[in-house]
Amino acid sequence: MRIFRILVLALGASAVGAVSAYAQKELPTSGAITITLDDATRDQYIYGLPIFRKYGVEGTLFLTTGDMGEEAGTGRWASLTWSEAREFLDAGFEAGGHTITHRHLPQLTTIELQAELGFPQALIYHKIGVFPTTFAAPFGDIQDSNGRVANAIREIYDAHAWWGGGEGTGYNSLVSVDPYQIGRVEIKRDTKPQDVCDKIAVAAKEVLWIVLVFHGIVPKPLTGPEGEYQTSTAAVEEIAKCSAAFVKNGSLRTGSIKEILDTIPHRHGPGRNVDKPIMSLIKGSARTQPY
Ligand SMILES: [Zn+2]
Repeated sequence: MRIFRILVLALGASAVGAVSAYAQKELPTSGAITITLDDATRDQYIYGLPIFRKYGVEGTLFLTTGDMGEEAGTGRWASLTWSEAREFLDAGFEAGGHTITHRHLPQLTTIELQAELGFPQALIYHKIGVFPTTFAAPFGDIQDSNGRVANAIREIYDAHAWWGGGEGTGYNSLVSVDPYQIGRVEIKRDTKPQDVCDKIAVAAKEVLWIVLVFHGIVPKPLTGPEGEYQTSTAAVEEIAKCSAAFVKNGSLRTGSIKEILDTIPHRHGPGRNVDKPIMSLIKGSARTQPY
């Protein structure tokens, strides 16, 4: 019954017919958890990294490379430095792309789009020696009228973390997944850590892959709309601690998007370099909150 439940939860009832096709394949024995951090700010380095390191939870750091340098900047949106990014790699994080300038991709010309997607790969490789293959679009915005942005992402990256992925649930199947529709659970200032822990427990029980996304990490989030996307260090610690408990008892493994994807036996979806845009797959998605 377990496989039946996995597919229903992660892919929707339409996938039930595929059960028999997967029954003979190797099935995962534990769920998985991936931490993702968008924008790669210094706050995430200063306040987040020590927590993730302490609890041994791993994930993907999505770098916006435009302001990255060797000198530490100041202010809320300051990017971490290249040497700080290297420390994330040492803690088991993958470096992913999150463009150069963090603009809405559908508004860009084709040349700008190619630059925003491809240039960070070259720069990250040059600076810290790893070649990013996972991408997250700024604001989760890939929705133009003809699938141009989604297709460009497919041509340049192997995977895309996106709010509409996993049918908007934040859970992904460990049996079969579209790598360009990796769903994430968004964590904001007003998200209750216990609710996140409850979701993590479901991933452990149902052998699913849960991907969390954090933005700002600070001791005390700002009040009002400005602090909406900040999470307190206390909340991050509670979530990391809860994740680590499942990792320790063997019901979840932790790793970057790339690492977990590499263990999934079946990939579905249109694949790379094909004409069919993924717009047809994302229409009607219930969620509307981008990041
Ligand atoms: Zn962002």
